[in-house]
Amino acid sequence: MQPFIYDQLPVRVLFGSGMVERIGAEAERLGIARALVLTTPGQRPLGLRVAGALGARAAGCFAGAVMHVPIAAAQAARAEALRLAADGLVAAGGGSTIGLAKAIALESGLPILALPTTYSGSEMTPIVGITEEGRKRTERHVRVLPRCVIYDPVLTLGLPAAVSGPSGMNALAHCFEALYAEAANPVTSLMAEEGIRALAAALPVVIAQPDDLAARGDAFYGAWLAGLTLSAVGMALHHKLCHVLGGRFDLPHAETHAILLPHVAAYNRRAAPSAMARAARALGAADAAAGLYALVQGLGGKVALRDIGMPEGGLDEAADLACLDPYYNPRPIERGAIRRLLQDAFEGGPPADGARIGG
Ligand code: NAD
Repeated sequence: MQPFIYDQLPVRVLFGSGMVERIGAEAERLGIARALVLTTPGQRPLGLRVAGALGARAAGCFAGAVMHVPIAAAQAARAEALRLAADGLVAAGGGSTIGLAKAIALESGLPILALPTTYSGSEMTPIVGITEEGRKRTERHVRVLPRCVIYDPVLTLGLPAAVSGPSGMNALAHCFEALYAEAANPVTSLMAEEGIRALAAALPVVIAQPDDLAARGDAFYGAWLAGLTLSAVGMALHHKLCHVLGGRFDLPHAETHAILLPHVAAYNRRAAPSAMARAARALGAADAAAGLYALVQGLGGKVALRDIGMPEGGLDEAADLACLDPYYNPRPIERGAIRRLLQDAFEGGPPADGARIGG
């Protein structure tokens, strides 16, 4: 076996239906007496319920989380935490809300208790991203890692199918890239393959029967594993492309992941054969790229960047940006092939078989 380094991050996890009822006890365990509850504007009712459950331990609710944490939202939330003399943050929501909590914690060091309601996996990572002047800058800092995460599948019951599918594919993308990450090791690969298997099996049920709590629980389990892999290894070309398209063209994060992943799998197909074999096995498919595309289609999600607001005139710039400060990738970053990959994702057909982009 190859030598490896594996950092085990200190997060307490509570998993299961009804676990959210323990929030008061968990806040007390963290020494939080004045929690600022964070949500998106749409999830304010959840925030108010959570604040109610925290009782005297809640200092207020700030429903200003926005996708990709624009710097203005981060500054407003930091000011609110100061104004209320908050001594802890409760993030009730998806990656946007947890991202906002991290932006506050980055400066203040306040502890975060996360109640995820999507499958983004952000709650398991020490990664914080803030968008300023059209570019999302990310950094790793253990200070922003939530101290406690309560995965209660009941909280995902309201997640519409149109959000559940792409959000689950976002999680699956973390597992997928973990399989060929530079720092991949036997433990992360085990979690990644199991995460792909759990998500690929659960997501179609979540879409067909959104109130199936068992499937919601299985999808959450996959999302947890996805977050763990994301926290343990660096991501590759797929995440670089998603950051470029999200930061520069303001495309919706989870849909961008779902659309791009099959095409990135095709790009990396020949460069990472054992990762592709594990992913294909977990997907129950002969080819990982084709299996991913079939999964996205089966979830009824969008398959073309043109359908989520990408301007065709921006593809050249996106290819250029993808080649700037590239992340590690098993296959070298070739500008021409990346441009073709983006064209394929823009049009939304099946991923290339290898001849077109040389994957
Ligand atoms: P999101 O948090 O933006 O949520 C999407 C929409 O769904 C929002 O309008 C939200 O209010 C709504 N919503 C969320 N949960 C709901 C529920 N259970 N019921 C009803 N509505 C609900 O989306 P996301 O995909 O979870 O997060 C995306 C963001 O997270 C991006 O900015 C991305 O960069 C970031 N992210 C960060 C990391 C990290 O490690 N730092 C990891 C993954 C994603």
